Amino acid sequence: MHHDIWFNGKLVPYEKATLHVLSHVVHYGSSVFEGIRCYDTERGSGVFRLREHIRRLFDSAKIYRMTIPYTIEELEAATLETIASSGLKACYIRPVVYRGMGSLGVNPLKNDVETVIAVWEWGAYLGPEALESGVDVHVASWSRMAPNTFPAMAKAGGNYLNASLVKMDAVLNGYNEGIMLNKEGYVAEGSGENLFIIRDGVIYTAPSSLSILPGITRDTVITLASELGYRVEERQIPREALYIADELFFTGTAAEVTPIRSVDKHVIGSGKRGPITTEIQNAFFEVIKKGNDPHGWLTAVPVNAAV
Ligand code: PMP
Repeated sequence: MHHDIWFNGKLVPYEKATLHVLSHVVHYGSSVFEGIRCYDTERGSGVFRLREHIRRLFDSAKIYRMTIPYTIEELEAATLETIASSGLKACYIRPVVYRGMGSLGVNPLKNDVETVIAVWEWGAYLGPEALESGVDVHVASWSRMAPNTFPAMAKAGGNYLNASLVKMDAVLNGYNEGIMLNKEGYVAEGSGENLFIIRDGVIYTAPSSLSILPGITRDTVITLASELGYRVEERQIPREALYIADELFFTGTAAEVTPIRSVDKHVIGSGKRGPITTEIQNAFFEVIKKGNDPHGWLTAVPVNAAV
């Protein structure tokens, strides 16, 4: 079923939310976007870390010199309105800001900036079994963009040309996902997920300065793992550290906390979801399923706004 889309300030029917083929974004990938989840918790529907996602959208837009003609508060309210109007209790939310009509030169400074928020139902991103059994991945032959080429901290549409090369190669070779190395050959992240590696009870992840997207689930997991008493270190991870890890997992809004059971056909640990991964997943599920939210990460969806 299709839901109304928030399009430049108001909800419109799905069919009406269209753009012109000569929009700048179609030719040059000039968009920034977010992926957010709304969970149907035991205490009602809640959007996970809405403020942080909308803030990252504004950060991405600023990096690309796009002026979003709304405030953070307005886009938060628009997100809640779009969810409420869909009647969905749980959904994936996709705000996107793009360069519209104007010049078709590369310079987009005079083009319109359009703002859209869409919602849809989306289950486990890496497959229904992935959260429990884990996924099989390989190291991608395509690298994550080098510093000072594309800004890695911006969640920009064009970045996902690189990501989709990685994802297509993974799937065509029989893997669920690819892990990108950075320019120096150190572990960066998946095509749409950050990566954590566990060895001898210590949890490692790449620092946000090393060409990764600073993931909001990554930040969540760093907080939860620290609270569980684990040491979490942000440091450069060589490729071979993947193969000898005790546990590995991906994090992301779509992927949530997904264990990795093999890399380049090396079995990771016992080949099953590991104990620390399970503990972290449980701490995450406590928030998003039970609605037990000591950090204030969930924003309630107003029921009275529902149609
Ligand atoms: N890295 C990349 C390249 C991504 O596309 C995503 C998904 N937004 C992530 C990491 C995870 O970020 P988050 O936890 O904020 O969804």
